[in-house]
Amino acid sequence: MKYKRGSSMNVPLIDLQAQYRGIAAEINEAVISVLESGRYILSDNVEALEKELAAYCGVPYAVGVASGTDALLLCLEAYGIGFGDEVVTTPYTFFASAEAISRVGAVPVFADIDPVTFNIDPRQIEKKINAKTKAVIPVHLFGQVADMEAIMDLSEKYGLLVIEDACQAIGAGRRGKKAGSFGHAACFSFFPTKNLGGYGDGGMVVTADKKVAAKIRILRAHGSAVKYYHQSHGYNSRLDEIQAAVLRVKLKQLDRWNALRREKAGLYSNLLNGTDIIPPFSMDEDRHIYHLYVVRSKRRGELMAKLRENGVATAVYYPVPLHLQEVYRSLDYRAGDLPEAERAAGETFAIPLYPELVEDVQREIVRILLS
Ligand SMILES: *Cc1c(COP(=O)(O)O)cnc(C)c1O
Repeated sequence: MKYKRGSSMNVPLIDLQAQYRGIAAEINEAVISVLESGRYILSDNVEALEKELAAYCGVPYAVGVASGTDALLLCLEAYGIGFGDEVVTTPYTFFASAEAISRVGAVPVFADIDPVTFNIDPRQIEKKINAKTKAVIPVHLFGQVADMEAIMDLSEKYGLLVIEDACQAIGAGRRGKKAGSFGHAACFSFFPTKNLGGYGDGGMVVTADKKVAAKIRILRAHGSAVKYYHQSHGYNSRLDEIQAAVLRVKLKQLDRWNALRREKAGLYSNLLNGTDIIPPFSMDEDRHIYHLYVVRSKRRGELMAKLRENGVATAVYYPVPLHLQEVYRSLDYRAGDLPEAERAAGETFAIPLYPELVEDVQREIVRILLS
């Protein structure tokens, strides 16, 4: 949309209709060709997308599943993580990161974040490691890769499995390597609002471990490698052909879209620098993919109200850190245990950012914030 001064605004956090308008002809053709093919589950498009995404990440194997949550779940199960095991992760993330750990019967152990990047702090991870610790799930929050060099050092030192929750970071990178290529495996989500989103749910695991990739293929199809012969219990967790066809069209646009997000994030950050609204920090500016543009301020409530009054969408990601969620009451964390995550949860909010957002609107949003 083009903003005219004095007119009322209606700016969403992300504009998926605008994105669709830009690629409608190609998407429609891809979807119709699946409809006409008569093959809707685990066929050519899923297989092709798996190859394309593996190549994109620079990792040998990829397995499409039903969601990012299932990617985490099946991955943990394929590695044999379960009862009696502890998995260290961040308290400042979407719930699914920890939910998958609990679902396989293991215990999530929360380590505090670095207040500058909002990602899990490797020094805090090390404090939580004991004889039960089997794995670490770092989350590349808001599209910025966690401190993977330090985390992989811990992995070697203590013999820990590392599964990247890269659901918010497809195409992000750090020091020349892509998100998904640092750990033993990585999980992606194709939820519609993610940087590479389908028109429904979907997910993918990437890994260099051939055996684990094969296990996840079996788990996603009811524990069977050969139809009607079952070697284990599994799931019905497949990426479907229509979503894969859509995602193949969108994957070709991903780098361009991510570059546009970076450009627009750069403008916001320039305009906000030096104010009491702190823009996101990026160590390696060209590799943050700004899944969300999240700022922090002690005046969050007042600023969000001002945006809403002016027709600008805004939201809090995430208001309750996971260690203080009701479901984890039995883990016995207290307010104050993970102070940086708690402070971030109390001060941060997202403002609109998407590839189609225009500069006039961005400038108006900042004007509202600073008024
Ligand atoms: C979106 C997301 C997930 C879950 O993905 P779904 O496809 O919605 O199941 C997991 N972790 C993080 C960090 C996410 O942002």
